[in-house]
Amino acid sequence: MMKLLIAGNWKMNLSVTDTEAMLSELKNKTRSDDVDSLIIPPFTSLDAARKLLDGTGIALGAQNLSHEDDGAFTGEISADMLLDLGVSHVLVGHSERREYQKETDALLNLKVKKAVAKGLIPILCVGEKKADRDSGEHESVVGNQLKKGLEGVHTTDIIVAYEPTWAIGTGDVCKPDDAQAMAAFIKGELKDLLGTDAVRVLYGGSVKPSNVKELMAQPSIDGALVGGASLKADDFAALINLGE
Ligand code: 13P
Repeated sequence: MMKLLIAGNWKMNLSVTDTEAMLSELKNKTRSDDVDSLIIPPFTSLDAARKLLDGTGIALGAQNLSHEDDGAFTGEISADMLLDLGVSHVLVGHSERREYQKETDALLNLKVKKAVAKGLIPILCVGEKKADRDSGEHESVVGNQLKKGLEGVHTTDIIVAYEPTWAIGTGDVCKPDDAQAMAAFIKGELKDLLGTDAVRVLYGGSVKPSNVKELMAQPSIDGALVGGASLKADDFAALINLGE
């Protein structure tokens, strides 16, 4: 089993002032060394976060990147800009961006390739909608997202996050057995696509200190991508300590 990774996706939350308060508190909490951890704040907080995370062993991620290198792309942020700020990981294709920004699998594939080419670790997010699960299509939906998102990608320096959209921010966490079954399915697909399943697969969707231990005990789940419960230092430290 791989070392677990607990990643906190702050989404569009926490100003620079809030970031400084949260991370100053987190630094003083006892945290297990058995688990890797990653904070993914909004772009505006990356610089403040990097300064506070220095020396803590907690890595820094971004929520998105451009598939372009530079130029006339107003509002976009490039891989080099992220690297410059000490970012090591980047989310690609979070379901909120697929839905609200209409990001397509083809665009996400370009973003994954750009991240890999620049030495950033992309966290490709996949997951089905409620209707897909109800109709038994969840594996084919996720399989398709993986195939298209990873087309032409030849590296194991990536992470896949399984986040069923119906479990995000709803409190309706995926049953550990179902999350395990999907994580195992994803590893099988990765073996076909990349020739190896030595790639971390995270679960995301209503992970909290009270349910993290059971989810992380599943053999094919290598970590968690957490939204709401990553915003407070107490909760995030409890997640890193697997709810203890
Ligand atoms: P919640 O933990 O708030 O359900 O969000 C999950 C998520 O979308 C993390 O990327």
